[in-house]
Amino acid sequence: MRAVVFHGVGDIRLDTVPDPVIEQPTDAVVRVTSSAICGTDLHMVRGTMPGMQPGTILGHEAVGMVEEVGRNVRNLRAGDRVLVPSTISCGYCVYCRAGYTAQCDTANPNGPLAGTAFYGGPKTSGPFNGLQAQYARTPLANASLLRLPDNVDDDRAILMSDIFPTGYFGAQLAEIKLGDTVAVFGAGPVGQFAIASAKLMGAGRVIAVDRVPSRLDMARAQGAEVVNFDEDDPVQTILELTGGIGVDRVIDAVGVDAQRAEQGPAANAQTGKGKFDEELSEIAPEQNVQDGQWKPGSGPSQVLQWAVKAVAKAGTVSVIGVYPMNDRFFPIGEAMNRNLSVKMGNCNHRSIVPRLVELVANGSFDPASILTHREPITNAIEAYQAFDKREPGWIKVKLEP
Ligand SMILES: [Zn+2]
Repeated sequence: MRAVVFHGVGDIRLDTVPDPVIEQPTDAVVRVTSSAICGTDLHMVRGTMPGMQPGTILGHEAVGMVEEVGRNVRNLRAGDRVLVPSTISCGYCVYCRAGYTAQCDTANPNGPLAGTAFYGGPKTSGPFNGLQAQYARTPLANASLLRLPDNVDDDRAILMSDIFPTGYFGAQLAEIKLGDTVAVFGAGPVGQFAIASAKLMGAGRVIAVDRVPSRLDMARAQGAEVVNFDEDDPVQTILELTGGIGVDRVIDAVGVDAQRAEQGPAANAQTGKGKFDEELSEIAPEQNVQDGQWKPGSGPSQVLQWAVKAVAKAGTVSVIGVYPMNDRFFPIGEAMNRNLSVKMGNCNHRSIVPRLVELVANGSFDPASILTHREPITNAIEAYQAFDKREPGWIKVKLEP
């Protein structure tokens, strides 16, 4: 079969590889009908998420048809159309039962303390071959896969593999209540779904901060008030828009590829502006990585500094942007002295996805506008390059195997 394979930092190729087979009784083999490129894939290709093993198939988003199931997959059969959530979970451990499916004790072969198990990631995440391929082995399929209703097409379903649930999770962590004012930093695909989810949870106002005009246009179309941080200081603008109080909740939908403050918070205070961009392409991997290991910056990311300043006293900061395990910077003094709540984590896909599929199936929310490009998998490498360069309008790319 054809698959997008990681060979090294900056080196991915469309290869012909062996078809996957059932290895465990709880496995299914899925014929992928749609996959997608995610900002997290770029973290791996650039090396900002280290530890990728050469030969690993990339990708953690898919919709497909079940080809074959192991004997303990008793809820699915060949021919079922399914959504493959990005993270893998067992459904029976104490964490899965409590809804923390990203912290499943069972799924990660490196053990219960190794972290979230997901497709197409570094060694610490499994590693599991990813979903930018014609076929995929899906472990713990009985508890992880979700059968799709016929009226949810692939274009909509693929967005529920990772980015819609992650945005929704960000809004959940932010503890949004009816009438809240919410700021979303980063209006990439996950940020767009965080905006949508904040509205679904009853937010009164949503303010979106980014620098890419097409992303801000999409946020405005959703009803958000937009701030371009290349034109306006985002903290000052948010304070002006909220009577000097700040927002009730803030969601960081940016993460590690944010350009770090070169000389710490003081330097940013002088310029009044910093720079960030989810999947920012101007950052060369070598600036952030030494000897294959993430090199921590000299202070918290720009977006975290802005987040704690833009939120009201006693407000909530939700972090869903991706940070590596050895990153250790957070503006804790400011957060502590302003009585902030800080919640963060990897999306508990499997506990959220059924609700989202229902919202889309019953017409409560249509995610279709977030998908901007469809490419055959044979164009995958070119699609990665266009997505990496942030060509205008490239918000979300679906790959068709
Ligand atoms: Zn589990």
